[in-house]
Amino acid sequence: MNIKYFDHAATTAVREEVLKEMIPYFSLNYGNASSLYGIGRISKKAMEESRQKVANVLHCEPSEIYFTGCGSESDNMAIKGVAMANKEKGNHIITTKIEHPAVINTCKALERDGFEITYLNVDSEGFICLSELENAITDKTILISIMFANNEIGTIEPIREAGLIAKKHNIYFHTDAVQAIGNLPIHVDDFHIDLLSMSAHKFYGPKGVGALYARTGVKFERFLDGGHQEKNKRGGTENVAGIVGLGKAIELAYQELDEYNDKLTRLRDYYIQRIEKEVPYIKVNGSRTKRLPGNANISFQFIEGESLLLKLDLKGICTSSGSACSSGEATPSHVLTAIGLPAEIANGALRVSIGAENTKEEIDYLVENIKQIVEQLRSISPSYQEFIKGK
Ligand code: PLP
Repeated sequence: MNIKYFDHAATTAVREEVLKEMIPYFSLNYGNASSLYGIGRISKKAMEESRQKVANVLHCEPSEIYFTGCGSESDNMAIKGVAMANKEKGNHIITTKIEHPAVINTCKALERDGFEITYLNVDSEGFICLSELENAITDKTILISIMFANNEIGTIEPIREAGLIAKKHNIYFHTDAVQAIGNLPIHVDDFHIDLLSMSAHKFYGPKGVGALYARTGVKFERFLDGGHQEKNKRGGTENVAGIVGLGKAIELAYQELDEYNDKLTRLRDYYIQRIEKEVPYIKVNGSRTKRLPGNANISFQFIEGESLLLKLDLKGICTSSGSACSSGEATPSHVLTAIGLPAEIANGALRVSIGAENTKEEIDYLVENIKQIVEQLRSISPSYQEFIKGK
């Protein structure tokens, strides 16, 4: 079956050009980047070129980029690294209720080690409140970590303003930019960012490689004990092919950013407009204006997003739902709960995340299938039947 892929926020396919650059580093140029002889130096050079490419995009120095194994590792390295290196100064960290588990669970782990975490609320569109952020700061606050853009609802946070607050209070500012890199221009100085996490597989690079930006002078502890790799911050032989892929992918993404964003925004708005016009009892989740170009998160009332997802899968369509189904019981997503959705609306959420290869025809196919499936699921939904009777 010809797959229609609408789950680019989960992962993306490696671009041909990226794969082509990576391949020699699996076999031909297999040298360990720490080795001093020729093929080692080839790997080292390729890695440093990638570091430069990442630095070009973020407008920082290559020495401020650390390669990691994934976005989750970058988040762990930033948050635990800063926490451990600055615990003499304070034990308080501020984050939000809508972070990815890579941040939330890292903070929960630190709570078990005696750190205090403030989880900021968000409003009905998913935005943090800047005055709540400022009021949460104490003389023990050592780190503020706020995601650049949310992975479920696509809301883009006021990062520049939050960064400025952190700077004013002399507190390190970390942003999980895993969903933003490849979609939004990011200038670390303009946004007052001290640490930033990214992951290659979200922008048409390979899985299993990420990067952390850490501003020169930021005190953070090493993440992985081992060799001297990554300036002693992350031991372990580097994933040279992956790093080459990350570098190529980020370079291409930012060369084509405007065109890519225009395309995704057009397709996303077309999808949302069609659903709003053609399917009753729906709710668009997240911000209408400040959202990732490819993200559309819509709740379909009276049905389970999970059931819709599974039926779309039978039609060759890949999407994501807003709930994690465990033992037959759907738990509403923490993000949709935080924006104030009641469980029955949160459980009807479907996230569509559009990417480079999608077309208008594919969106039409998606919408037609959603219309049919929603109608069918509602026809057997007791809550819908009750609602209709009561009208
Ligand atoms: N942070 C955000 C916002 C994400 O969306 C993801 C992945 O979905 C991650 C972190 C984790 O990235 P990785 O899958 O590379 O560990």
